[in-house]
Amino acid sequence: MYNARAYSAAGAASPLARTTIARRDPMDHDVQIEILFCGICHSDLHSVRNEWSEFMGTVYPIVPGHEIVGRVTNTGKAVTKFKTGDLAGVGCLVDSDRTCPRCKAGLENFCPNLTLTFNSPDKYLGGVTYGGYSDSIVVDERFALRVPANLGLAGTAPLLCAGITTYSPMRRQGVGQGKKVGVVGLGGLGHMGVKFAHAMGAHVVVFTTTPNKKEDALRVGADEVVVSRNADEMKKHTNSFDFILDCVSADHDVNAYLNLLGMNGNLTIVGAPAKPLGVHAFALIFGNRSFSGSNIGGLPETQEMLDFCGAHNITADVEVIPIQKANEAYERLLRSDVKYRFSIDMASLKSE
Ligand code: NAP
Ligand code: ZN
Repeated sequence: MYNARAYSAAGAASPLARTTIARRDPMDHDVQIEILFCGICHSDLHSVRNEWSEFMGTVYPIVPGHEIVGRVTNTGKAVTKFKTGDLAGVGCLVDSDRTCPRCKAGLENFCPNLTLTFNSPDKYLGGVTYGGYSDSIVVDERFALRVPANLGLAGTAPLLCAGITTYSPMRRQGVGQGKKVGVVGLGGLGHMGVKFAHAMGAHVVVFTTTPNKKEDALRVGADEVVVSRNADEMKKHTNSFDFILDCVSADHDVNAYLNLLGMNGNLTIVGAPAKPLGVHAFALIFGNRSFSGSNIGGLPETQEMLDFCGAHNITADVEVIPIQKANEAYERLLRSDVKYRFSIDMASLKSE
């Protein structure tokens, strides 16, 4: 065991503050990673404030962060995928049972015994796992991803959650040329969704509640932008979408978007508001529409997404911040004031 620097919150109403945590020494299959950047996902905020208490209560202190990019500083003796000095990424998962049918199919994200990067029982040290708001992490090499060498690191970190969460449902729903795709909410997930749908060749329409995000939406790859509070603008798109990805973090009316789907259209929700959403049966019945959810992605698909980003030069648009500004960044997330992902430069923690 060794000590690592980190930022943690002591309770649902406490700010993130400097602390020291224990990490395990690398075992045979482990890599030790010096964390260079960690994205701030809205899930970090939901968890720190225990907004998902009904589904996964937060154990305090919590060290959030599951959009990790860094450099390998040490490897266990059985490690084959990485060597010291390599770049590596870690997303939302750090372990699973590896033997269940889901793990065997590369869907570790649905393993009944998965270990999330933070706030999951820690099999090795007891207590719960601690995430990426830290200067280092130790994970089994199976749960570390290779990072394409051509991508900027600050903008690569968010791919590990926001990237895979939006890439996976788009692949599953056949997003590509000739398809009309909507993305609701231009935040961290949403702007990645726009970039992917554009790169896959679809016609992309962004729905935003923030009119001044219009230009940015077009710049990141949207063909059209609709201010969702404008009923007339919404009406123009009735019955026309093949697929809509809903990336909204707060309570909102999904029926307004279901009604924009064409025949057999699908709306997939990846945003995770704490409160239940009310769905009108008729919004689904008319047109054989479907409404589904999607949860991050498995390790093989996460690597596929990173390689896709390498090939298409895709990274997140980030505002790089020192870790001392994490609390302020949370307040800004709540005001939808993010362009379009905060990425923590972990050098700020090392120098504190
Ligand atoms: P984010 O950066 O804060 O973006 C959320 C966006 O939603 C905002 O930028 C805003 O976009 C829109 N929005 C916010 N409040 C709204 C409201 N009251 N009504 C309508 N629109 C609103 O958050 P994120 O990191 O992208 O995460 C989005 C959600 O996905 C969170 O709930 C997060 O926990 C969840 N998530 C799920 C998964 C998964 O596996 N399913 C993975 C990661 C995150 P506009 O300004 O454009 O309207
Ligand atoms: Zn996330």
